[in-house]
Amino acid sequence: ILISLVGMVLAFYFYSGKEEFKPEMLKGKRVIVTGASTGIGEQIAYHLARMGSHLLITARTEAQLQQVVAQCLELGAASARYINGSMEDMKFAQAVVKKAEELWGSLDMLILNHIGKSYFNYFDWDIRHVQKLMDINFLSYVTMTISALPMLKNSGGSIVVVSSMAGKIGFPFTVTYSATKFALHGFFSSLRQEFVMQNTNVSITLCILGLINTESAMKAVSGRFTSPPAPKEECALEIIKGGALRQREVYYRYMDTKIFTVLRDWAPEFIDYLIRKNYNMDNLKQD
Ligand code: NDP
Repeated sequence: ILISLVGMVLAFYFYSGKEEFKPEMLKGKRVIVTGASTGIGEQIAYHLARMGSHLLITARTEAQLQQVVAQCLELGAASARYINGSMEDMKFAQAVVKKAEELWGSLDMLILNHIGKSYFNYFDWDIRHVQKLMDINFLSYVTMTISALPMLKNSGGSIVVVSSMAGKIGFPFTVTYSATKFALHGFFSSLRQEFVMQNTNVSITLCILGLINTESAMKAVSGRFTSPPAPKEECALEIIKGGALRQREVYYRYMDTKIFTVLRDWAPEFIDYLIRKNYNMDNLKQD
């Protein structure tokens, strides 16, 4: 009886009244994607291009952005433009939104995905790095949200925040990165509550990702973290689906990330232990 009950609850949870994703949902939509020169952001741009969206992509490396824009146009984007600069500078974060306003006069989806460079090792006690990463990974997200809100309110649009398991659970060797991701969860979860209370028709989707096979992540964890990565292409699509369906959270891959998050509060020391088991300390000490 218990098993059938659990099965029914799970079936209800997964299937009941859920709208189905259709690529046409993104056709003609005006979307900003940050950190789109490489990795997951680049794949998000390609998926949206195939779906016929208008794209404004951003990162620092102009040559790389030009290539991604060219590829997006080939794949069928309604339009594709870029603006390059660093999210360390809040004026640049504002300028990205201003550019979208000049181009389209409107915005349907803001996908916040970029991260600044960090290290994968014991915390090095460098407060300047903490401040810099907070600026890039957190404050610029807030800045862009503030700037984009009037347009998103008008369109009934969506904010998609790409985060990590490291924003839900403490992982070693990513202390500062983890702090920036926890900050995103606090800010955007609280903001979502206020949007509901104020009848603000803007959805907020937080994406909780496990290890993904992007070049930068693979380089960072190589030989040090034993858990297998998931594909960036599929991950990018799940992020878009979550945003389009206005889900509060996306867990990718679901079974790995959701179970750890649920068990975190029930068995915190056991979960911490399981996480530590995934690290190869010998390789770490070689740095
Ligand atoms: P990448 O390193 O591949 O991409 C990072 C992007 O951010 C690049 O486009 C980079 O371009 C840009 N960027 C870096 N520094 C700055 C800066 N100062 N200002 C503006 N843009 C900058 O990362 P991933 O694709 O691996 O990660 C994407 C998202 O997914 C991140 O939010 C990350 O936290 C999350 N995530 C990734 C996981 C993974 O295993 N890959 C796991 C969990 C979460 P450029 O250098 O040209 O500026």
